[in-house]
Amino acid sequence: MNTAKQVIVIIEDDPQIGRFLRTSLCAHGFQLFIAETGERGLLEISMRKPDLVVLDLGLPQMDGITVISKVREWSNLPIIVLSARSQESDKVLALDTGADDYLTKPFSIGELLARIRVSLRHSAQVAGDGVGALFCSGDLRVDLSRRSVHVNDKEIHLTPIEYRLLTVLIRNFGKVVTHRQLLLHVWGPTYVEHAHYVRIYMGQLRQKLEMDPAHPRYLLTEAGIGYRFADIGL
Ligand code: CA
Repeated sequence: MNTAKQVIVIIEDDPQIGRFLRTSLCAHGFQLFIAETGERGLLEISMRKPDLVVLDLGLPQMDGITVISKVREWSNLPIIVLSARSQESDKVLALDTGADDYLTKPFSIGELLARIRVSLRHSAQVAGDGVGALFCSGDLRVDLSRRSVHVNDKEIHLTPIEYRLLTVLIRNFGKVVTHRQLLLHVWGPTYVEHAHYVRIYMGQLRQKLEMDPAHPRYLLTEAGIGYRFADIGL
């Protein structure tokens, strides 16, 4: 029905990566605009009204983090960050500043496309009703209106903290949520430095929800960054 192409703005100063992204994303039906600086990128975003932005963190002059905070002053559009290994700590900062997801270079186009699809699905959901009252994934069923959790049709009792932790991850399913964001939304602003809380409660959640807690299917660790509820199909 709707044949309008989805628009992506790419902000990347490396012309080789820019060309590679243009060719591969165009081949998958997206309309692409590339900017080589943060300033130019902000201009493209305001002109093109894209559905999504792919942003390199290491840019000359205005860096990627600044671009994110400027965009977040007026827009919720999904931002996927590309970062070099050396920018590990910037990745967390980028997510806390409002980026939706990240990829570390070198990445495959398959990975990038998967992240783009998840992010676009999210923004469509946010524009609609959010995650519905009933969330199902594999053998896990969470009824957000009744606050009940079932695994394989067996009801699981969660403490209020465990339940909040699970629902924050579910509302962001497929996307990484940083330690800081989890602490903020589950425990509150005065707890953002207590990263060990997340680790302890995540361990408990895995014991209750995962078939093999040592090799989780749902509650995935993003080393040094946070956690991600796996997008294994709904
Ligand atoms: Ca760069």
